[in-house]
Amino acid sequence: MTSPRFRCILFDWGGTLMSEDGPEGIPMSDWPEVRAIEGARATLAALAPKFRLGLATNAAYSGREAIEQALDRVALRPYITDIFCFREIGGRKETPQFWAQVLKTLDAKPHEVAMIGDSPEQDVLAPRREGIFSVWFNPQDRNANVYEIPVIRSLPEVVPLLTQAA
Ligand SMILES: [Mg+2]
Repeated sequence: MTSPRFRCILFDWGGTLMSEDGPEGIPMSDWPEVRAIEGARATLAALAPKFRLGLATNAAYSGREAIEQALDRVALRPYITDIFCFREIGGRKETPQFWAQVLKTLDAKPHEVAMIGDSPEQDVLAPRREGIFSVWFNPQDRNANVYEIPVIRSLPEVVPLLTQAA
């Protein structure tokens, strides 16, 4: 059996691991109700034994602690080792600065990292510019063939995609 190609798998937060449906302008941890995206927990549980898992977010109102609290409320927190957030890095995912910090913290080469998210620009094209493999989570099947990139419509689809991409 070959070893997996990747060491670290990163997920976007809003719209990828957790629903963004909630009050605007306050951290998700303070929302009356929070919800994990369908299949998120099973996907993280399946990947966690093989990869180091992290979260990469442009969230403007939530810092690390608030993100951890929100993840806790939907039982996703135990799977996430690293949190990379706009509030700490000071740059958004669209900037090389963000990914440089990610790679430095993970002590990883770009080809050892994969990113999954629902924003083509922030989660797919931006990490790709830095040499990071990226997967578009596209549950609504929007413009599916516009980009020549791997596309998944449900989160569990990423498990065979990443474990077979040896
Ligand atoms: Mg998102």
